[in-house]
Amino acid sequence: MKRVLVCGGDGFIGGHLVRRLEENGCQAFSADIRHGIDLRDWKVVSALFGLAVQFDEVYQLAADMGGAGYINTGENDAEVVTNSALINLNVARACVQSGVKKVFFASSACVYPEHNQMDPENPDCRERTAYPASPDSEYGWEKLFAERLWQTYARNHGLDVRIARFHNIFGPEGSWNDGREKAPAALCRKVAEAGNGGTVEIWGDGEQTRSFLYVEEAIEGVCRLMASDVTDPVNIGSERLISINDLAGMIAEIAGRDVTFRHVDGPQGVRGRCSNNDFIRERLGWAPEERLEEGLEATWRWVSGQLEAARQAA
Ligand code: NAD
Repeated sequence: MKRVLVCGGDGFIGGHLVRRLEENGCQAFSADIRHGIDLRDWKVVSALFGLAVQFDEVYQLAADMGGAGYINTGENDAEVVTNSALINLNVARACVQSGVKKVFFASSACVYPEHNQMDPENPDCRERTAYPASPDSEYGWEKLFAERLWQTYARNHGLDVRIARFHNIFGPEGSWNDGREKAPAALCRKVAEAGNGGTVEIWGDGEQTRSFLYVEEAIEGVCRLMASDVTDPVNIGSERLISINDLAGMIAEIAGRDVTFRHVDGPQGVRGRCSNNDFIRERLGWAPEERLEEGLEATWRWVSGQLEAARQAA
């Protein structure tokens, strides 16, 4: 039985990944600060990798991260960069010392240069456009550093590394009310809170665009990437570009709520961002089907259920 360690395995994508790996017959372990394993601490990391269990694969998803309200305000930059860099440095070193052979690293669409994402209708996020680098957030710079870190460990220490650049992954069990939530969960929460006839706030003019990938499809992409021989960073995202206004409208429709949208100042990130899947199609012979409606329905059910449970508990 393959033994795998998921760093950040109690998080949103990590939780879904642990379940999929178990379904695939792996013995999956999670290392997450949510149950006391702080991967910034070298003593903790070296003890974890020094356990009797020899991990065959490591999935490194642990990061200090969040949506625009966390990443794009500038208020958390030093923490974000320090925390995630420490995690990657420690985990990479421990992988080499303990003889781990294969590693997955979760990078982000935030590595792409801001100047290629000014036109909401036509952002350019092809993998090879990441350089010359000019990400719009420090979070993006740290991801770029971490990609390079993992690549140096592949080159100099023989690690077999796979790197995905996730583009706005969404679904049940992600952040929805802790200040780190991204647009789909945040809008589901706001629509649920507003109720029929209520008002929902949208940050900016809502004409900024993104693409959103349902977590089930992201996990499928991770498994296929790990099974492949592709060592270059690969986009795992949807090519279905949608404005935040349209996304909000879809959620209100799914919820069956008649709400009014009000545009307010707020952090927005780049003007447009969308996955380009030419490379993944070419190298993996696969790309996501883009099950946006199905994913939003599942997210709406989950977020509105959480809100209802919180109300009953109060
Ligand atoms: P998440 O915040 O739900 O998961 C990250 C997990 O890392 C959390 O469970 C957190 O507790 C854990 N963690 C943070 N600091 C830690 C530490 N010091 N020690 C141990 N664990 C620690 O986020 P997610 O959406 O599941 O993202 C997973 C990965 O994918 C992250 O690396 C993120 O940067 C990347 N990513 C996500 C998206 C997305 O749309 N969700 C997009 C691009 C990249």
